[in-house]
Amino acid sequence: MATIFTKIIKGEIPCYKVAEDDDYFAFLDINPVQKGHVLVVPKIEEDYIFRLDDETLSGLMVFAKKVALAIEKAVSCTRVAVAVIGMEVPHVHIHLIPIQKESDLNFAQKKEFEAGEMAKTAKAIAEQL
Ligand code: 5GP
Repeated sequence: MATIFTKIIKGEIPCYKVAEDDDYFAFLDINPVQKGHVLVVPKIEEDYIFRLDDETLSGLMVFAKKVALAIEKAVSCTRVAVAVIGMEVPHVHIHLIPIQKESDLNFAQKKEFEAGEMAKTAKAIAEQL
């Protein structure tokens, strides 16, 4: 069965899309830790990041770097934090989270933004790519 992220990539489930190329896809996390929290995923289905082949893994990181630099320009932050957890969705994803300070990276405290604000944030990041 397709993962929820494959359904998002295929457009079967809506998302706030940020970027896409032939192999990778980026979209806003639906339960963001901070405004501008993006998930970057490979289009191929693999559960665990360290089971990706080297080419896909390095391509994923290079794609994530482009997205992170765009987040930096679109969202006020001192850093874009990078996290890989993968306990919830069995499809490799890198969290990119703009932060001002270390304590801003708290996965136990999610934020809520209106749909319009999410759409605006995704567009602002996409425009920097
Ligand atoms: P993890 O697997 O790294 O522990 O967390 C999975 C992340 O995916 C969570 O931050 C969660 O909010 C996000 N997520 C789960 N389902 C969806 C979804 O359907 N759409 C979006 N945009 N994000 C999701």
